[in-house]
Amino acid sequence: MDGRTTLSAGTYPAVVLKPKEEGRLQGGHLWAFSNEIATAPSASNPGMLADLFHAQKGFLGRGFYHPHSLIAFRVLTDQKDQLIDESFLVKRFETAMAQRTAFYSQGHAYRWVFGESDRLPGLIVDRYHDILCVQSIAAGMELLKPLIIKALVQVSGVQGIVWRTDSGLRELEGLKIGKPEVVHGQVPGRIEIHIENGKFFVDPREGQKTGFYFDQRDNRQALAAYSEGKRVLDAFCYSGGFGITAGLHGAREIVFADSSQPALEMAEANVALNDLAEKSTFVQGDAVELLEHENPGGPFDVISVDPPAYARSKKHLPAALKAYEKLNIAAMRAVKRGGIVASSSCSHHVSRDLFIEMLRRSARKAARQVRLLELRSQAKDHPVLLSMPETEYLKCAILQIL
Ligand code: SAH
Repeated sequence: MDGRTTLSAGTYPAVVLKPKEEGRLQGGHLWAFSNEIATAPSASNPGMLADLFHAQKGFLGRGFYHPHSLIAFRVLTDQKDQLIDESFLVKRFETAMAQRTAFYSQGHAYRWVFGESDRLPGLIVDRYHDILCVQSIAAGMELLKPLIIKALVQVSGVQGIVWRTDSGLRELEGLKIGKPEVVHGQVPGRIEIHIENGKFFVDPREGQKTGFYFDQRDNRQALAAYSEGKRVLDAFCYSGGFGITAGLHGAREIVFADSSQPALEMAEANVALNDLAEKSTFVQGDAVELLEHENPGGPFDVISVDPPAYARSKKHLPAALKAYEKLNIAAMRAVKRGGIVASSSCSHHVSRDLFIEMLRRSARKAARQVRLLELRSQAKDHPVLLSMPETEYLKCAILQIL
């Protein structure tokens, strides 16, 4: 471990902002951008611990400095006597866990750490009962890796930890993209998790992202409330979260669709695990094509469309909005009159307002009158930090198509 991580208070190198750049940070935002930095240590190691000061030299926070990233500083704490050591991490992890178990009391299956929202910038930890899956996207978090592993084990006593390094965001910090690594204990290929009333297999090594999308858990429950006795399409189903939750709430028939064969195989295994095989069918292919042309077995009463992020950056926004529109027109047309479409977007760059405008345009082009019943966001284990709009990304509109 680099000696810098355990230096005593006051000995972290100083990074100073340009005049008048401190307002956002004083409002609770946790990032300073590279164009806002006036001076920084000359020998800077990406992700090194440092103290951030405003131009009049007042202390703003202690965190990670990165000389080559657009996000030049990420604040870990605004307490100037706080050492960044194992006990600091233990405290942060304990706090985050208490906040999850308050909402999700049945077993330990939740996003335990959601980066900036838990004041642990660039660190994601999903908990699957006795196994953790960690994703780090900040160089500073990679430097703290041994301390993070020790602190996670100390707080949770888990049997195994997988450290994943396959997020494309890592490139922005000059980090390598690599294969998943078991960094503690033993990790089975498949874990069975129990959340709300459903059971799901999760593959923490090969599954998408960290293996399971906890962010949609509350939205799946919300949509299930409209699904009793209904014919449901779970388009972009991945491991089947929306369709299975609807099935457990009494849906009559469920069609699962995804373009990925491994995703469909996982969905099929999860359907069997929940005893829903008799009312389920699986379709591999492009969900938009399916909605526009095939509509197997006639129209649906309820449709979930939960595509991958179409707008990965701001420059992709116009094309992404067109793609969302095409998808939503198709979904609005494929559902029965009076039926329900749950339309999701996980692109941070598509704001709530842009999302609603896109749905309004889609309704007009689909020639449907549409009512917005619920406008939902990410689950409570992915809390949004109000001072940091960047922590909000998921929208899920539950629409009634007249
Ligand atoms: N609804 C899922 C998460 C969906 S993630 C859940 O609740 O867990 C997005 C999924 O869309 C991925 O599984 C991906 O394989 C799939 N996908 C991507 N492009 C697609 C397309 N054109 N048609 C159908 N599925 C697609």
